[in-house]
Amino acid sequence: MTVTTATALTIKTENKFRTLVSRRAYLAGETLCAIPSENVTGKPNRFTVQIARNLHTHVGKLAALNHSCDPNVVLDTDDMRMIARRDIAKGEELSFFYPSTEWEMDAPFICLCGSANCIHVVAGARFLPLSTLERHYLNPHIRDLMIELLNDTRKNLPAAQ
Ligand SMILES: [Zn+2]
Repeated sequence: MTVTTATALTIKTENKFRTLVSRRAYLAGETLCAIPSENVTGKPNRFTVQIARNLHTHVGKLAALNHSCDPNVVLDTDDMRMIARRDIAKGEELSFFYPSTEWEMDAPFICLCGSANCIHVVAGARFLPLSTLERHYLNPHIRDLMIELLNDTRKNLPAAQ
């Protein structure tokens, strides 16, 4: 499978609000582009995507990818690819579920996506209940960190009387 560069994607700016838009249609499961990995850092910021427990990659153009609680793309940090979660029309805004890669975000915000499943506060996976996370694609580092958190919680529970 060939992974295309991000040239099939374009950034649209309206009232200083940036969105990433597809320049052609995609079928569910298709790869839209590779996730850049040339510039990796230990700390998250608005321009990074978390790819492992302590690794955040500067994603360049993909930083214009907004969050949605009902997203149309998935960021697979195992294969370092952006994949269509469902069929995508030409000109459609692309979005992904930030907690699927981010454990604890540098800049949390309130989501106004309007989805019936909206999580409202987007701050990272560690702040979401398991029942919410289960409905989404989650990358391996998020699964690992979640299992760790759950194990620690159990340790901290008071002993049964
Ligand atoms: Zn939402």
